Amino acid sequence: MPHLDFDDEPLADQLGRPLHDLRVSVTDRCNFRCQYCMPREVFGPGFAFLPRDQVLSFEEIARLARIFHDLGVRKLRLTGGEPTLRAQLPTLVALLKEIEGLELTLTTNGTLLKSIAQPLADAGLDRITVSLDSLDDPVFRRMNDMDFPVAMVLEGIEAAARAGLGPVKVNAVVRRGVNDHTLIELARHFRGTGQILRFIEFMDVGSTNGWRLDEVVPASELARRIDAEFPLEPLDPNYTGEVAQRYRYRDGAGEIGFITSVTQPFCATCTRARISADGKLYTCLFAGDGSDLRAALRSGTDDDALRTQIAQVWRAREDRYSEIRSEDTAGLRKVEMSYIGG
Ligand code: SAM
Ligand code: SF4
Ligand code: SF4
Repeated sequence: MPHLDFDDEPLADQLGRPLHDLRVSVTDRCNFRCQYCMPREVFGPGFAFLPRDQVLSFEEIARLARIFHDLGVRKLRLTGGEPTLRAQLPTLVALLKEIEGLELTLTTNGTLLKSIAQPLADAGLDRITVSLDSLDDPVFRRMNDMDFPVAMVLEGIEAAARAGLGPVKVNAVVRRGVNDHTLIELARHFRGTGQILRFIEFMDVGSTNGWRLDEVVPASELARRIDAEFPLEPLDPNYTGEVAQRYRYRDGAGEIGFITSVTQPFCATCTRARISADGKLYTCLFAGDGSDLRAALRSGTDDDALRTQIAQVWRAREDRYSEIRSEDTAGLRKVEMSYIGG
């Protein structure tokens, strides 16, 4: 059994929140240039992505995952950047699957799923989330800014469902005046399919996406709009700390969710830690700096010392950025989401 050095109390941060979820960014690269995440003006040909030797190896990720599992993590999400761009990703999933009792999920833009969904499922991936902001092809091509068609992502979602990775969650970031006129069509498409659409409020992640409060469509407004077309009723959360507010269609056509990060923050129940592609530990999506686990990993630090380092960081955690967000905090220097992992 692992031990937590200084005492045996369950690990909790300064606000009493346990460590339950881990998001691991396996690459800071992406084949999309979503304006709200990796605007091409910043992430253009001259952008310096992490050199390969600075990115954690699969063995390093698996070692950290084991230690985080010892500290209470039960759900691990692979993300990025675009995680499916990382070569041999199913090999990492298989390594992580060896950790008993760890639920494995992945967030992806879906473009490579047609070929990789089955190998990921075979390696032990439990579930998948695919991002898709609109079914309107010109709108979607503009939003990913790389001219990827909607059809490619829909094929990816179907491949994931066929591989047994469902119910697939489908994430759509909403920006007023950009794609909010296409949301009813998204809802119509996914109703009755068993796949779960979730609308995400546009967030001020990173420092480069030109976030403005007036582009955020509050989830309450989104729910009203959907309800007017397809009547909804609220559902109870599946578990404490679930980020999506869940509703069901009254006619039995399934479920839909709203992620209210801006208008109704959920910091009080936030149990998520993040590891960037180069092995820094971040305790908030909006953090400015992280704790360097790669340096510890590569300098021969043993598991007990790593556990202690991580536990100390978590115990000191006070983050609740979304609760104190304002026009002022939007301008703070924050790490980019493609690097820290969405
Ligand atoms: N590339 C993968 C994808 O897009 O699904 C995984 C990484 S991406 C950073 C993770 C999630 O963050 C996606 O669902 C994306 O839509 C969401 N996201 C990125 N920037 C966002 C922003 N400014 N506001 C809200 N959600 C955002
Ligand atoms: Fe890439 Fe995902 Fe960011 Fe879009 S949201 S640029 S797909 S990492
Ligand atoms: Fe968690 Fe930070 Fe988001 Fe609050 S702002 S929910 S603490 S990641």
